[in-house]
Parts: sequence; structure tokens; C-alpha cells
Amino acid sequence: AAGAAALGIDLGTSGVRAAVLDGRGEVRAVEGARFAGLGAAAAPSVWWQALVHTLDALKARVSLRDVRSVTVDGTSGTLVAVDAAGAVIGPASMYHARAADRAVLARIDAIAPPDSPARGVGSPLARAVELARRPGVRAILHQADWIAGRLRGCFDATDANNALKTGGDPDALAWPDWVAGAGLAPALLPAIHLPGAALGPVGAEGLAVGLPPGAVVHAGTTDGCASFLATGADRAGDAVTALGSTLVVKLLSDVKIDAPAYGIYSHRIGNRYLAGGASNSGGAVLLALFGADRLASLTARLRPDVPTGLDYYPLVRAGERFPVSDPAFQPRLEPRPADDGVFFQGVLEGMAMIEATGYARLEQLGATALRSVRTVGGGAANAGWTALRQARIGVSFLPSRSEDACVGVARLGLFGGVAVCRPGEAA
Ligand code: ADP
Repeated sequence: AAGAAALGIDLGTSGVRAAVLDGRGEVRAVEGARFAGLGAAAAPSVWWQALVHTLDALKARVSLRDVRSVTVDGTSGTLVAVDAAGAVIGPASMYHARAADRAVLARIDAIAPPDSPARGVGSPLARAVELARRPGVRAILHQADWIAGRLRGCFDATDANNALKTGGDPDALAWPDWVAGAGLAPALLPAIHLPGAALGPVGAEGLAVGLPPGAVVHAGTTDGCASFLATGADRAGDAVTALGSTLVVKLLSDVKIDAPAYGIYSHRIGNRYLAGGASNSGGAVLLALFGADRLASLTARLRPDVPTGLDYYPLVRAGERFPVSDPAFQPRLEPRPADDGVFFQGVLEGMAMIEATGYARLEQLGATALRSVRTVGGGAANAGWTALRQARIGVSFLPSRSEDACVGVARLGLFGGVAVCRPGEAA
């Protein structure tokens, strides 16, 4: 049997998941553990404990002896402050937190390039400046950097994806001068590596949690990029639509797109860019309009071959960011037919229109043309909706290999996140 070659670790908002892949990228085992306790999601010691439990569960199923690469993804925008030994100083600054210091936000606003992802009230850069004021701080790290750092015993590295919203330049793999100008001393920042690049061997703590000597820790990525990679999408024009609470589209493009008005930034994957946008429409609207109990029975009544002709824009409240950017944008859910089956189909048709417009918008902004769509999230299992979407979008719909971010980040360590030449396919 092929040995366990790659370990991928995903730090999510509610727990840790980890996957072991063999040398061909096939999944050998996946395990996870939830963060336990009040406020646990912001306690780095809880992240580490959950990782230890997860690795124990994995080791009970597969030997980690042949693991060669270890790669970690984390929640984008969650930061920790550490001392010279990598010990955490104070609680983490969470991805959803807002910077409190308005002067710092104003300075970033004045100094950052207009399309910088480091702008905005949730700016990880602004929160990093605040964290750096804690006494004894020697480095500011992203969640994934800190976990990978503990496994290595070295806290000097990040990746271009995690660094993006902290102000890192994903092409130069460097911190621009204006980041220092915003108030963050360059000495506090980790070096930026390409996602998937080898960083160095596991250290004492990595060995102590059961990783084999000789395993190499690789630069990681964000949870969003890892989820994309998990699906198997890896060529320019490959896209993934997430039909969860919100509707999110992501497209692998040869061209970089930064369109802050639409909330679009480009992450780097290999020589390509991952551009994505999130609509406020999606599954949360379905739950609000119909309730969770009725989705299955309404789904059974879908008639994808009989369009309703209703022209809806389903939202719970006014305001949209992508594919139209307008905080006052109004939902459109009228006229409402007497038959809820028809109403449901109209709502799904509206969401299919939003998805198609989303991909068209990315192309309009300069992205590589769409060539395939994979679907993840709660809505992916709805075959009628899939048929409606496919008719509207018109490219091939492909199955997802996995929805597990830990599988995607393991693939990043194994293949470097770039397209692997598969038999019968051009590189
Ligand atoms: P998230 O992780 O973003 O909360 P999930 O991927 O778990 O979301 O998906 C949950 C969503 O899936 C819910 O908002 C729900 O509306 C949607 N959903 C569940 N069943 C169906 C269905 N049969 N058809 C369409 N959407 C569905």
C-alpha cells in the first residue's frame, strides 16, 4: 500500500481537522477535534490542544512514519502576538474583530495603495499594529504561521495568502515600505513564502506530537484557498461555487484582479491567482423564506425544464457587495406565486442568475474565462438546482474531490499547489 506521504492541518473557526494523503494525493484518513470551552476559538492553547487530539486520532488509524510534508491552513485574518520563543502574548485577534484605534485605520487609509486588501475596518494590518503594542512582543503571526511555527520550532515564516490582508505583496513576497509607515515594525513580521514552499524540518514539538524526523513543514495558506484546492480545481478557468449560507464564487485566473468595491482580492496559487466574490444571497435566504424542514419537499417539486419567468434577486435585507456593489441594493421577490413550489424555483433561478452574473463580472474585470464549475456546500446536493445553474452558466460542471480544507492544504504541501500533469491531459 502507498505510504502516508502528506499531512494537512486545517484550523477552522470551530475546530481542527487533519488529513493524511498518500504520494498520489489519495486520502488515507481524516480526523478532527472541536475547540472546547467558552471563548475557546480565540485561545491559541486550545487550537494546539485540538491539534494534539486530532493527531492522536489520526495515529490510531494510520502510521505517520512516512509523512514527508506537513502543511497548515488557518482562518484568514486571525492573528497572534508572540515573544522571542514563540510563546503567545494575550488572546488572538480574531478574523471578525474590528480595529479599535481609529488613528491607525486613518494612517493605513492615507498610506496604503487604493486597491490594497489591507484596508477596511476589519483590517488585519490595523489589528497587527494594535497587537504589536503588547509588552514583550517579538513577532506578529497569522493563525496558521503559529501552528506551523510550533511544529518547526521556528516562528519566522508566513505565506503570501495569509499575508495578503496584513499588507504583504504576493508577487514580490515582501512587506512593502508603507506597512512600516502604517506603524508595524518590519522586524516583527515573518518572511513571506510562496504557499506550499518548503520551510524546514519539524522540530522538537513536532516530533513530540508524533511527526517523523525528516518531515518538512511547508508554507501554508488561508482556509478559503485550502477549500478551493480540496475540490481538485487546479487549472486556469476552473471555478468553485460555494452554496452555503452565502453564495461565493472563486475562479483560478492567469490574471490578477483586485476590485475592492466588490470585495475581490486575488490570492496567489502557484503561478496563478484565485479571485473570488461573495454575494449576500444564498442558503440563509432559503432558510429565512422557507425554513429548513421544507427544503427537501420543495426540492422534489423542482421543474428545471419549465422556467418560471420570475426575475428575482433573493436577499434577506437590502445591500449587496458582489456581483453588484451597492449597500442600498433592494431584494426582488415579487410577484409571489400562490404555489410555493414555483416560488422556491424562482428563488433558485434568481440565485443561478446571481452566480452566472458573478462569473461574468470576474471575466469583465479581466479574469481568465470560466471553463468549469465545481460546487460545494449545503446546496450542492440539490440536483434540480444544479440543472438550473448548469443551463444558465453553460460550462461543464465537475464533481468535487473533497470539501475538506485539510485535504486541500495537504495537496498544497504534496504538489506545491500547482497543476500536476495527469495522464491524458496537457500540462
Ligand atoms: P455554511 O457552512 O455556510 O453555514 P452549509 O454548506 O452547511 O453552509 O450549507 C447550509 C445551507 O444549505 C443552508 O443555508 C441551506 O439553506 C442550504 N440547503 C440545505 N438543503 C438544501 C436544499 N435541498 N436545496 C438548497 N439549499 C439547501
